[in-house]
Order: sequence, then C-alpha cells, then structure tokens
Amino acid sequence: MVMLDEEGLGSRLIAPQDNPGSWSRDGGEPAAEPLSSHLDRRRPARLASEASDAERGADPPAEVVARLLSAKAPRYTSYPTAVQFTADIGPDRHHRWLGAVPAGHPVSLYVHVPFCRRLCWYCGCSMKVSRRPEPIAQYAEDLEREIALVANALGRRPRVGALHFGGGSPDSLPVERLDRLFTVLRRAFALEPEAEIAAELDPSFVTRDWIFEATRQGLNRASVGVQTLAEPVQRAIHRPLAFERLTDVVASLRGAGIGAINMDLMYGLPHQRTADVLDTLERVLPLAPDRLAVFGYAHVPALRRHQTIFAPDSLPGAEARLEQAALAAERLQAAGYQRIGLDHFALPTDDLARAHASGAMRRNFQGYTTDQADTLIGLGVSAISRLPEGFAQNTADLAAWRAALIEDRLPTARGVAFRPDDRLRGELIERLMCDGSANLSALLVRFSPSPEVRDELSRATDLLERAGLVSVAEGRLVITEMGAPFVRSICAAFDVDFDPDSGRHSRAI
Ligand code: SF4
Repeated sequence: MVMLDEEGLGSRLIAPQDNPGSWSRDGGEPAAEPLSSHLDRRRPARLASEASDAERGADPPAEVVARLLSAKAPRYTSYPTAVQFTADIGPDRHHRWLGAVPAGHPVSLYVHVPFCRRLCWYCGCSMKVSRRPEPIAQYAEDLEREIALVANALGRRPRVGALHFGGGSPDSLPVERLDRLFTVLRRAFALEPEAEIAAELDPSFVTRDWIFEATRQGLNRASVGVQTLAEPVQRAIHRPLAFERLTDVVASLRGAGIGAINMDLMYGLPHQRTADVLDTLERVLPLAPDRLAVFGYAHVPALRRHQTIFAPDSLPGAEARLEQAALAAERLQAAGYQRIGLDHFALPTDDLARAHASGAMRRNFQGYTTDQADTLIGLGVSAISRLPEGFAQNTADLAAWRAALIEDRLPTARGVAFRPDDRLRGELIERLMCDGSANLSALLVRFSPSPEVRDELSRATDLLERAGLVSVAEGRLVITEMGAPFVRSICAAFDVDFDPDSGRHSRAI
C-alpha cells in the first residue's frame, strides 16, 4: 500500500514519530504537491546558516533550534525529496538516463498496481477502486508495453536482485495475467535466482490461486495488510477482515512456500482503544510473522476528502496514540522482535534485522529495505525510478500514462537531476535515518565537497551538537537519546532544499 504523498510517491498514510526513540521508516501524510519555483539553491541548510559564525561557541540560538524541531520535515525516502521534482525531467531525459546505466550495474524493480476492490476510509494511497477485471487486465497489458520501452532504452538485460509489487493492491492483477507479466519481465530483466520478489497483499481479497501462481512465478515475500482485528474499528474504517480469513491467507502463503511474511498494523484509528491494539497483537503473534510494521494513522481530511467521514472526536488523542505505540512496541519486543526504526519490528532471523545489525539497511520509496542496488526502475502509473543521474517519476494520471505508452513514449512526468553534492547529502541523511549515526569524516573524504559545503555541513553539525541532538566523536555523528524523536529534523539540517517555513511536509515530531 504505497501512496502518493508530499514527496510524490512513497508510503503509507501514517503520522510519523509518534514513537520517540528510534529511526523512522515510513511516515508522513500526503499533501499538495506544489513544485517549481521554490528551488532557491542558495537556501542550503538555512537553519544552520542562521547559527552564524558569531554564534559559534555560544549556546545554540534557541529560536533556530526551536524552528528546526517544530518544522515539518520530509520523511527522506529519497534525497533530493520528491518535492524537488519538476517537469524539467521528461521522457527524453529519462530515456537517456536509462541508456547510461552502466553495464553490469545491478538494478531493482518496483511495479505499481493502483487498483483496489474497495476504498478503506483511512487510505491515502495512490489507488483506484475497481471491481471489474477489464481495466486491470488492460493495465497489465500496458505494463508490458512500458517494460518493453524501458528495456529498449536500457539497451541490455540488467541483473535484478529485487522486484517489489506495490499498490493499491497487487493481488488485484488477474491471476491468468501473472504468467505473461513475469515472462515479459524476465525477457527484459535477468531476475537472479535468489532475487527477493515481494508483493503487498490485501488479505480480504487475495485468493489461494493467486498466491500459488505468484509463488510459482517466484514470489518469496508477502506483506499482508492487517491494520486491526477489532470489529468496531474495522467497521469505522470500512475494512472488514475476519481473523479466520487472515489465518487462511497466512496458511496459504506458508503452504505455497513463502517463507517471509510481513504484517502491517495500525494504531490511532477512529474508535481504536489501546486494548484493541494489544488484542490485535495477541491474535497475530501466534501466526509468527517475520516482520511487523506498526503505523500510526494520520488524519488529513483536507488532502483526502474521504477521511472527513471520521468525526474528529472518534480519533485517539496524542496521549492515547503515544500509549498505543509504546505498548505495542513493548509487547513486540517482549515477543522477541527487534525494533527497527520507529515502527518496524523483525525477528532476529529476518533479513531486515540482519541488515540493520550490520549497518547495511537502506532506505528507498518503500521505506527501509535490504535492497543494496543504487538503481531502482519504477514501472506503472506514478512509479519513481532512481537512476545514476537522478530521479524520474511517471505521471500519476492513469489515462496520460496509458496514452504515452500507446505512442511508444516513456510516461515520465517529472524528476530531478542530481547536483554535485546531492550524493554526499543523500548518503549522510540515509545513514542517519537507518542507523541513527553517520561517519561524516569518511563521507567528506569520499565525496571531496567544496570548502563552502564542508563549512555548511560543519555549521549544521555544530548547531545540532550544541543543542544536544547529536554527539560527535572522531568525525562520526551519533544521534543522542534526546535527539532520537527528532531524526527527520536532524536530517533536515543537512538538506540544502529544506525550507522550514514551507509547511509542505508532515510534522517531524
Ligand atoms: S487496500 Fe485500502 S488502504 Fe490499501 S491502497 Fe487499497 S484502499 Fe488504500
């Protein structure tokens, strides 16, 4: 369930950083997507710059730190964030960028399937309700065109170590189309034998046939959207799911040979009590998911009109949300799950827990990931690609996406080219988001930025250190306990584009 958000495409509709204490994965709410003119490239680390030389050595200016911490900060599933995408990047540039992907360079694939059988009233995803199979079959056919166009632009058949189907509901793809879709994908891309092939599933609708056919095609990880098992809450959010149905789906997944199962749960939903959150946990824990994500619902009716159906007084308040998140985390840790980021929990045997432990965890538009490839090719309406030269995003308009493909054009609508320092800033922010620490000295050696950029990064570090948000030893920044709830704001201090006054992002704490 990936959604359009303030950064263009990304993640689930959740309120970030309800949980103090660790590093965020997904979070943030969808927002209007004003683009363009705000790209004052000299805005860099505006807040850090405000702590000018005259202030160095003194206490950090309280006002500057307060603005940093109260500002709405991005979720940093990419850097630059999708707010920086503009129409300057179109099909021609995207085509050239694909052609320039170095030979032997492994890539990952993301396939967006926007269809769902019903609208969950909390939803903030990029999706369309469709109960008829025809538009979805048509979409699958159009995806084949897009794959062929991308393959043509690449000019070769790259190795692929990870393939992720997100939505919407990927299980809405007709089962009889899966063989053909995978055949076309395998013709264009060399899926490695050990590739992770994952799909987000709606347990209310996915069928046993779908699971078995997808597994036959290589599916080996499933992410099951549970959200809540409390019936009054399910009624309130228009998402019924019987526990017996969920156990059947999990049994089918395991029976088909899928060894890695994620479950998504939510808190902060209308009429949801802490007891409901804990009861749902008690019921899903015996199903032994390898990984769980516990997301907080973010109420943004101005951006998602269907959410106006929730009376504001039906929503748990801030204190109740904190309690729900904290007790869920406590229960999961007591059950042997390791906490990863603000909202992820994994058994020590799970790949994400291993990657987290070894410092190899990465962050991309799907949130935290084990995927190590730097190049991600997005397919489908609204999908984003990360290429060596920058980001390119497909149009989010289904008709426009299709029209472009019929004309044999890539359906690229916007994107951003990397500037000289973006990789340095991006890597610094990614390590802070994933590990809560980053070796700034090593990054400076590797990327050799200009003296101005070094100075700016040093001012930002100094500001954060004096505010007690990070500690610095031998060139390594480590987010302190006090700084932990502010991880996004800390990253924003190194973001050249971040404008604390834009109000464009979800609140950072
Ligand atoms: S299953 Fe529900 S929450 Fe998920 S994308 Fe579809 S409508 Fe949205």
